[in-house]
Amino acid sequence: MSRLPAASPLAAAPAGNPFFTHLQCRECGREYGRDSATHVCEHDFGPLEAGYDEAARRLVVTREAISARPGNLWRYREFLPVVHPPTTGRATGGTPLLRADRLARRLGIRELWIKNDAVNHPTLSFKDRVTAVALARAKELGFRTVACASTGNLANAVAAGAAAIGLECFVFVPHDLERAKIAASLVHGARVVAVRGPYDRVNRLCSEIAGRHGWGFVNVNLRPYYAEGSKTVGFEIAEQLGWQLPRHVVVPVASGALLTKIHRAFREWTEAGLVDEAPASLHAAQAAGCSPVADAILSGADVVRPVARPQTVVKSLAIGTPADGHYALEVVRKTGGSAAAVSDDEVRAGIRLLAETEGIFAETAGGTTVASARRLIESGAIPRDESAVLVITGNGLKTLDAFGESSLPEPEVIDGSLRAFEEEVLGRGRGAQATV
Ligand SMILES: *Cc1c(COP(=O)(O)O)cnc(C)c1O
Ligand SMILES: [Zn+2]
Repeated sequence: MSRLPAASPLAAAPAGNPFFTHLQCRECGREYGRDSATHVCEHDFGPLEAGYDEAARRLVVTREAISARPGNLWRYREFLPVVHPPTTGRATGGTPLLRADRLARRLGIRELWIKNDAVNHPTLSFKDRVTAVALARAKELGFRTVACASTGNLANAVAAGAAAIGLECFVFVPHDLERAKIAASLVHGARVVAVRGPYDRVNRLCSEIAGRHGWGFVNVNLRPYYAEGSKTVGFEIAEQLGWQLPRHVVVPVASGALLTKIHRAFREWTEAGLVDEAPASLHAAQAAGCSPVADAILSGADVVRPVARPQTVVKSLAIGTPADGHYALEVVRKTGGSAAAVSDDEVRAGIRLLAETEGIFAETAGGTTVASARRLIESGAIPRDESAVLVITGNGLKTLDAFGESSLPEPEVIDGSLRAFEEEVLGRGRGAQATV
């Protein structure tokens, strides 16, 4: 296992980033001021992305400097869009990269790694990373109220993050979300608004509210900052592999930001000279009940066709109109990756396979990733003699609903006597023989 050094509570506050210089339209390349209060291009409505002085940065960043810092996501601060010392996320990131030999054997591949964001701090999903960056920037820009449109995990992360720095918080979610994800937002004192309809409805409403109320929506008007936080998954994977790019990465796709930003992370580090240039294929994992990006990849289409009514237990990935879907498609094509769209039964089997082989309980998005990896290895899209990283993005305790009534075995209920145990449990088999 590869783990970054723990952040000591006595460690100096992380510094900001002088190399963050501007925002830039992803479509036409026009540049905007670093503090301009916009997230879309005035000319073509293209999304704005954070831009850096890459030439100056290249002269300063070194493996040694990064290695010497605490193991949270701010160790990559020269690559993140926060100017002043950040006020958030001092224990976020630095999750384990685990060599997964038992799972590798079951999937029939030579070398497999799990990037385990199911144990990210503080809310057990990779959304703690994007939230740490967005909230640090929100604070820097002077927002008093923060909010988000969420499929669940982002709501948890924003609610917890806002509580920890004393900001007002509203989270907007689809009304049919898992109970655990609703509770894990409410408990932090956030106002939780459950909107009737699918995620796309929630997102559209949030765009309207952001335009009128001057709140910082982490994934709407703060999206250029939010999205950059995803790069830290890519940085950690490369650093934990010994400053090398992975050959294959399987990434769950909702809006497509995580997949595109892992790719951007690899590009930035190659250009900064922190890793050698090497092929790194990105593969998209989705659930068949909402697979607009995977469908486009698999059918060779040039456009991502929206899914009007997502139907899957994988609620965290159920975005029918993915904001970065087109860019995700481009990245997969350009890097020689592929995609899979797996059934809900395959998702549940994927969750159990990961748990039974590696002792990691992932949420439905993780089951999607494992099931997709299985298909990609079977089809040869990921050759059996190569190496792959599976990005596990959330924790299984939040999505117990996915198992419903019957897909896990029942516990074996007995009276509290030795005889009852021996007759009813051992006598019944399931392979458990006493070995005294
Ligand atoms: C949000 C989310 C994703 C995907 O994120 P995008 O960047 O929107 O593609 C993956 N896994 C989990 C558990 C998530 O909550
Ligand atoms: Zn533009």
